[in-house]
Amino acid sequence: MNEQALSLRLKQVSRYIQPNARLADIGSDHAYLPVALMLKGSIEYAVAGEVVKGPYLSACQQVEKNQLTDKIVVRLANGLSAIQPTDEIDTITICGMGGSLIRQILTEGSHHLIGNERLILQPNVGEATLRDWLNQNDYAILAEEILEENQKIYEIIVAEKQTLTTKLNEKELFFGPFLMQGKNAVFIKKWQREYQQIKKVLKQLQQAQNQPLEKIATLKTQLDWIKELLGDEII
Ligand code: SAM
Repeated sequence: MNEQALSLRLKQVSRYIQPNARLADIGSDHAYLPVALMLKGSIEYAVAGEVVKGPYLSACQQVEKNQLTDKIVVRLANGLSAIQPTDEIDTITICGMGGSLIRQILTEGSHHLIGNERLILQPNVGEATLRDWLNQNDYAILAEEILEENQKIYEIIVAEKQTLTTKLNEKELFFGPFLMQGKNAVFIKKWQREYQQIKKVLKQLQQAQNQPLEKIATLKTQLDWIKELLGDEII
């Protein structure tokens, strides 16, 4: 991957960034996403936020190499504190991290959100906890995507703040409201794997001397949900 040729994962993320967006890419590492979009002329302005010095310097180099310092500001900052009111950010991408970390970034930085930003989130794991945060904070999920690249499965969640008339239920939080409707081949593959993994963990917990009964009950419920959704696809 480089700024000219994004990974499939980031290409799919970029599909949800609207033309002329003012983007904040949080956890921007090499700033590949904002640089690629700026080179294509599809965004107006970007902030690339990075909390770690090494990736921050890589992002700075990338922006300088492509002569985009007047259009992309790279900031060494924790989470959403990279965003300043004068940036007038309307789109935030947080990609390539665990769902819990993305949730933490949103929680700790919520005072940097005006409420009109589109959030495009790409958790590597822990999607349910992220959907739970969105649900609790009145963000409606507008789109979801699941894809496979280099034998890894990724999800993308697109959300905007709205007055929610109906909240997501437990199964929608677990599987993703759109993904569970679509049930594409990657989704089925993911949940076939998860089913086997949960079964393995459940077996270990049931063999423990002090069985964690609440955890066991949760895992059993999850297995039932997966069985119910996948039906004959369970292997
Ligand atoms: N977003 C890029 C992508 O999807 O390819 C880079 C993903 S990289 C695995 C995650 C990056 O997030 C790392 O460079 C890490 O330093 C950065 N990061 C982690 N926590 C952060 C935080 N609280 N604020 C800003 N950046 C963070």
